[in-house]
Formats: sequence, C-alpha cells, structure tokens
Amino acid sequence: MELANRIQQVSPSMTLAISAKAKAMKSEGIDVCSFSAGEPDFDTPTHIREAAKRALDEGKTRYGPAAGEPALRDAIAQKLRTDNQLNYQADNVIVTNGGKHALYGLMMAAINPGDEVIIPTPYWVSYPEMVKLAGGHPVLIHTTPASGYKLTPAQLRAHITDKTKLFVLNSPSNPTGTVYTPAEIRALAAVVVEAGIYVVSDEIYEKILYGDAQHLSIGAVSPEAFDRTIISNGFAKAYAMTGWRVGYLAGPQPLVKAVGVLQGQSTSNVCTFAQHGAIAALTSSQACVETMRLAFAERREFIYERLNRIPGLSATRPDGAFYLYCSIESVGLPSIQFCEALLEEKHVAVIPGQAFGKEGTIRISYATDMATIEAGMDRLEAFVKARL
Ligand code: PMP
Repeated sequence: MELANRIQQVSPSMTLAISAKAKAMKSEGIDVCSFSAGEPDFDTPTHIREAAKRALDEGKTRYGPAAGEPALRDAIAQKLRTDNQLNYQADNVIVTNGGKHALYGLMMAAINPGDEVIIPTPYWVSYPEMVKLAGGHPVLIHTTPASGYKLTPAQLRAHITDKTKLFVLNSPSNPTGTVYTPAEIRALAAVVVEAGIYVVSDEIYEKILYGDAQHLSIGAVSPEAFDRTIISNGFAKAYAMTGWRVGYLAGPQPLVKAVGVLQGQSTSNVCTFAQHGAIAALTSSQACVETMRLAFAERREFIYERLNRIPGLSATRPDGAFYLYCSIESVGLPSIQFCEALLEEKHVAVIPGQAFGKEGTIRISYATDMATIEAGMDRLEAFVKARL
C-alpha cells in the first residue's frame, strides 16, 4: 500500500530505536552499559502503585471522560496553581497519554499548514516531527555551548515572522540539561508578548534541578505571558512513571477543549487506573521526588567530572534533567558512526547528536546506577583513546 505523504516526511525516533537495540543486546546476554533512554532507573514509588492496584480492585476499569478523570484534572490544576503560580482550573487541563501526546495534541489543534514553530537546537527529538505532522514548518535556531545552549531574546526576536505561531521552550532541557534562569525566562516572555505569538513550555523535568538552578514557568511571568502560554508536563520523569503514559496539557480553555475533541475521536481516555496512580502521585508526600533527585544529583557530579577527564571529550555542566551533553568533535567521526561503533565495540549505548539536530555531539543519560556509569565511562574512555 502506498503510504500517506504525511508519514513519509517524519523520521522515526532515534532514541527509541537505540534503546530498543541496547535492550535486545542485553537480552542476548551481552553486558551493555545503556545511557540511551530518558528513563529513571527507579521503580514507581510504592504508594503510587498501591493506589493504581486499589483502583483496579475497586472496578475503575471502565471508560472515563476523554479529557481525564475529574479528580485528576482538579489535582493537576491545584498543582499548577501552588507549584507554578499558574492560575488554572480543571477545565484548563487535559490528561494525555504522556507528555509526548500532550504536545502532539497541541500541534494538531493549534498548527495550520504553513505556520512556523520556533524550536531551539539541540531539541528534544519529537518537536520538529510533530510540527511536520501537523503541516507546520519547524524553524530551528542553533544554540552553542558558549551560551550554555540557551536561546537569547535577540535570537528569538530575529526569527519571528508573520507566520510564527508558537515557540517551544524546554527548561530543564532534554538533551542539554540547560536550565534558564528566572531573568532569562522573563526576557523571553517579553519577546513572546511583544510579538503576539504563543509559547509551549515543556516542563517535564521541572523537579530535576541541581545546585542553585530554579524553575520559573514562563506563564507565571505576567498576566500577558499567562495568556500566551501552554504548559506540557507529565508524571514520567519526576515520579518514575514512564510506562504509565500519563501526562497533561494546560492552557486556554478553547484550546484544551479542542485537544479534548481530538482525543475523543482518537485515543479516548488515558488508562483509568493509571490516572488513579497519578492522583496519588500529586496528592501524597513529595518525598519520593526528592529522594530520586538526590540520587541523580550524585550521579551528575560524578559523570560530569569523569567525562571531562577523558581526553578529546567535553561536556557542559547540566543544571537539570538527567543528561550530559558532550562534544565529540575532536574524535572526528559523525555522531551516528560514533554511536554505532561504540555500541558494537564497547557495548555502550548513547544517542548521536544528529537526533537532536546537532552534529559533533552525543547525549548520555545518567538515569542509571553508579556501577553502570563507572564501567561505561571506562569503556568510553578506551574507545575514544584508541581514535585520537
Ligand atoms: N518532553 C521531553 C523533553 C522529554 O524528554 C520527554 C520524554 N523523553 C517527553 C516530553 C515525553 O515524555 P512522556 O511522553 O513519557 O511523558
């Protein structure tokens, strides 16, 4: 069968492909050090699992509203008000099949063919592909290690045209670990408001911060910025719930309603008992989030120091998320070849920068145990040394 044009211009997710290959090698008995998936290695906290089990036993196994369980939409709105100073009510919130599907729903509901969507590079793999699926044009703006991979207000302003509809902001960032300071967020908000565009703030790593880094939601900057902001978030990273597939989108009511219509005609509700786990995640103690953050913080210290001691490699210091973004330029191999050879020869899985729109780099996820990090860095060092 001839495939539709829309799917032919979309690239498959390279991160999912490499993670799958690493998993397959592991299942063949190969000792693989995998730094590929953006997935906490922790189990979902017990009280969240218990809440989902209880929901199952109580018969919460039926269709629910396509926009999500009312109690979960309420709990999310409450969280956005208290954690993020965003004045949302339940009907500003839709529960989605992970953060990924929140962004997909947004693009489908907001982007017309020809609309431009500004995306700073390196970007999370799915942003440009989703824009293309919606018929829009991703406008990629390159950032460099010199600016800490941060987009400046002047860069943003310079790329806005009369076709610009949306700007995608991701802080803390996947893949770079960059966190914009509150002052930088305010400066970007001023450009968004002045130009009359919209911003989607992907805040899925907001809880994973190190040192003095602070998270300010761009929608909290001013009432004018609030009106121009859409929030995408989810439970996967902060609560180690990647497989549960629960995320959310929050924003102006007509937009959220439109995404609800799309879900009503496509996926229907997110798994009902998984939503009950998510309610427990938000309404119980947040100590588990901090416990995991502290573990990531320790690994981040170690891996940042260790990697920068490898001759030929250099990484920027991540202020958030659980990724180390590393230049491989002095090795002289294209990033895909570098990663393929590293996996074949040393059984170490990392993601090539090309997946994030930036050659000459790799992304190393350190959401894994210290023993794997230590062994993996030793192998990476041997691999690079043999090529310098
Ligand atoms: N945004 C970013 C920046 C991410 O890294 C991810 C997951 N890798 C997501 C969104 C989507 O997460 P999920 O669909 O698992 O909630």
